[in-house]
Amino acid sequence: TRMFDPLEVKRDFPIFGHNPGLVFLDSAASSQKPRAVIDAIAHYYKHDHANVHRGAYALSQRATDAYEHARAQLAGFLDADLDEIVFVRNATEALNLVAYAWGLERLREGDEILVTEMEHHANLVPWQLVAARTGARLKAVPLTDEGRLDLDAFETLLSERTRVFAVTQMSNVLGTINPVAELAAAARERGALVVVDGAQAAPHLPVRVRELNADFYALSGHKMLGPTGAGVLWGDSEALKALPPFLGGGSMIEEVTIERSTYAPPPQRFEAGTPAIAEAVGLGAAAGYLMDLGMEQVWAHDRALLKYALERLKEVPDLHLYGPEGPDRGGVIAFNLGSLHPHDLATALDDRGVAVRTGHHCAQPLHRRLGVAATARASFYVYNTRDDVDRLVEALFEARAFFKDWL
Ligand code: PMP
Repeated sequence: TRMFDPLEVKRDFPIFGHNPGLVFLDSAASSQKPRAVIDAIAHYYKHDHANVHRGAYALSQRATDAYEHARAQLAGFLDADLDEIVFVRNATEALNLVAYAWGLERLREGDEILVTEMEHHANLVPWQLVAARTGARLKAVPLTDEGRLDLDAFETLLSERTRVFAVTQMSNVLGTINPVAELAAAARERGALVVVDGAQAAPHLPVRVRELNADFYALSGHKMLGPTGAGVLWGDSEALKALPPFLGGGSMIEEVTIERSTYAPPPQRFEAGTPAIAEAVGLGAAAGYLMDLGMEQVWAHDRALLKYALERLKEVPDLHLYGPEGPDRGGVIAFNLGSLHPHDLATALDDRGVAVRTGHHCAQPLHRRLGVAATARASFYVYNTRDDVDRLVEALFEARAFFKDWL
């Protein structure tokens, strides 16, 4: 690991050289990419590309080695075993894979799927689809006014009927970090399958995935410095072995006749067809880059920037901030300025070079709970600095002055 200096880190990201003055505060939607990732993808295509797992020739073996090396890097990143890492497109696909493969086979009428009110639609809609096909019922753990899960309600909602508990490790709107290991242990005790959405947590926190007591863990590579099109479904090896296939096709089989097939063991069972090889290689490089920075340092940087941002943002009159304050909070800040529509606010911020996201952030039930249709959201990552926070605050003051008659 190296000394963590966000200004030095920022120089590793070509996009900032090509967009001078850009204050990028939308990493929760998708992060920027360091040269190490861009170069790994280009190198792979220039030197090593062929299809994987089948060619008898040296080039195909090199492509296979590159792809499997990426799997090893992700296993290292999550402190998991190699055969527990399934490459998928993104967290959405990982969650759908579990919902369909496990849910369609195992859920029955009267079974319950427990989610939370803060889930991203990616960890809600797949369960709705599977519930509709199986007759299972969906229930949601409500939130406290501070934006945490209501743990008493969780205990009450959890029952012998709960077959699945699907929860995010970190909210993409409130930044709340949930006590997943404790919740998961309680859910498992009742015999429920535990599915954790790590899309927001994995890029920011050190994750030793086995310590979460989960069966499955989903992440998106593009939010953790990797390219779009590659993500990971981690599955506990017993859970993966018991999971029927999701997509059928080449590479996931053992023996095929016209009538039926037997399936390869995990992870191949879940990687039908030609995978996104270069994207996996890029994601491997991203995991390597993050491990080199040190996830403890990444998390400490996020926390320090969040603390500074919350202090500074409180200086802005009429600014409403959402989410809990405490150690259980990551570097995501949703806000509204008076009654101004967040789209208008974001446009004013963009005029000042500050990129934030607005809308419901694919979490409509959460926004309904907050009593607003939309929020603006600033999110931080390794390349953000205190200067970025100052620019955001300055732009908010200017926007407030500009819109004062509408607030
Ligand atoms: N879960 C959470 C908590 C997220 O923030 C996101 C991305 N906004 C997703 C799932 C879905 O990620 P993707 O669109 O990459 O599949």
